[in-house]
Amino acid sequence: MTTFRIGQGYDTHRLVEGRPLVLGGVKIPHNKGSLGHSDGDVLIHSIIDAMLGALGLGDIGRHFPPSDERYKGANSLDMLAQVKGIITQEGYLIGNIDSTIILEKPKLAPHIDAMKASLAEVLNIPASSISIKAKTAEGLGPVGEGRSLSCHAIALMYFS
Ligand code: MG
Repeated sequence: MTTFRIGQGYDTHRLVEGRPLVLGGVKIPHNKGSLGHSDGDVLIHSIIDAMLGALGLGDIGRHFPPSDERYKGANSLDMLAQVKGIITQEGYLIGNIDSTIILEKPKLAPHIDAMKASLAEVLNIPASSISIKAKTAEGLGPVGEGRSLSCHAIALMYFS
């Protein structure tokens, strides 16, 4: 018998000058970047929460407390690798991941394949099992005004 578990994740960060914009472990050329204790990678943070949520293992803040100096400036790909390790230890495999990044600028289409490849390598799954969608906020609210970005993700895990 195969057991399926599904999880959902969400993240948002402020966009400020003088910070790199990192999404899915890929540096995106832009005049602003994500403000955060770690590298502020909203895509990876929401995927981590979806993976942890699927197995009822809490959230990213529980596993990587912002108060912990070890995670200051942390590469979120390393955090993702640790979470993949936890999932594997629990006996679960990743079915697929779907995500939506909401960001006014820049256009992400040219970078989606690189992001998928970067995540697929760390998660040890085919890039075809990862979906990354991007949309703007139509100029509305803090995301639309370019002051922040956010991301939603879901992840399906299975145990057989
Ligand atoms: Mg975050």
